Amino acid sequence: MENTKEKEKGFVVSARKYRPATFETVIGQSAVAATLKNAIANRQMTHAYLFCGPRGVGKTTCARIFAKAINCEHRTPDGEPCNECESCRSFSGDRSLSIFEMDAASNNSVEDIRDLIAKVQVPPQNSHYKVYIIDEVHMLSQQAFNAFLKTLEEPPTHAIFILATTEKHKILPTILSRCQTYDFNRITIADTVAHLTHVAQEEGITAEPQALAVIAQKADGAMRDALSIFDQIVSFTGKNITYKDVIANLNVLDYDYYFKIVDMFLQDDISGLLLTYNDILNHGFEGLHFITGLNSHMRDLLVCKDAITAQLLEVDGEIRNKYTAQAANCEAWFLVEALKIGTEVDLQYKASQNKRLLVELALIRMAQLLKKKLMTK
Ligand SMILES: [Zn+2]
Repeated sequence: MENTKEKEKGFVVSARKYRPATFETVIGQSAVAATLKNAIANRQMTHAYLFCGPRGVGKTTCARIFAKAINCEHRTPDGEPCNECESCRSFSGDRSLSIFEMDAASNNSVEDIRDLIAKVQVPPQNSHYKVYIIDEVHMLSQQAFNAFLKTLEEPPTHAIFILATTEKHKILPTILSRCQTYDFNRITIADTVAHLTHVAQEEGITAEPQALAVIAQKADGAMRDALSIFDQIVSFTGKNITYKDVIANLNVLDYDYYFKIVDMFLQDDISGLLLTYNDILNHGFEGLHFITGLNSHMRDLLVCKDAITAQLLEVDGEIRNKYTAQAANCEAWFLVEALKIGTEVDLQYKASQNKRLLVELALIRMAQLLKKKLMTK
């Protein structure tokens, strides 16, 4: 059903098409993937795992590869599934009877869990293990948790539980102590851009690196989101993705504005600042959106001032050079003081009766920081 719908729209759903089939190809989680692979290769598996981390970073993907690998008939010596045997193919075709996925966000009652517990007791037919993935496990009701705890304490030998959560702090200590915990990171912009570049090449799509960087930033560490934004952009713009198209589609403010604004601070160009801000508002952008963007821009300039912190700047190539060049013109104290003003606006914005004036005043105050400094010299 879903597949035909996707085909009718005429574009691939990349998150599904490019879902990794091996630990090796999982993006941005090499530490977790390596540990899981080792555990499988050395047959040091346990019955309960807890995968923690933000949404869309590969928790379910790793759980699926894990389930496939432990049931594979011709597993590689380093713990990867062969992806060719009958068991692997049934997993890849979503028709394996040895894997169960439950979303605790929508199935969190004690009846749901009792139903699951009953299934757990039945041994697998054609495989060694049955794997139960419970997503968003922190959403289980207290009663459901309690019912589940007994099974987690004395699981049948064929059962392996993989519990996934975005909110580790909500997991009861009694559950935590029975699970081996794995922490998944948010995926870096560089890793996301590299993967999007690969997908674009495979699909015969040309894409400007800056365009993919904006998509990666918007996805904020979640590969699933990055791929779905990518699909959305392709469906709007076709096989050629430009920076301009992406910012227009995602309603992102062109970073050139921020470079311009900071140059105007340096030149004490108050009228230029007010006119540029007016232009931004006329393009339909919200003042708060602008000020938080300006704050991150100044933060990025600040990290560029130091060779050690420069690695925190998550952009590359031409745009990185632009940051370094502008940072060289700004003194660190100025950026810190301007950021203080920007953060104040961020906090006051929602309550303010005259939002436009609040932002305009902040811009003037930021410009005046440098003027005051000149006068005291
Ligand atoms: Zn296999």
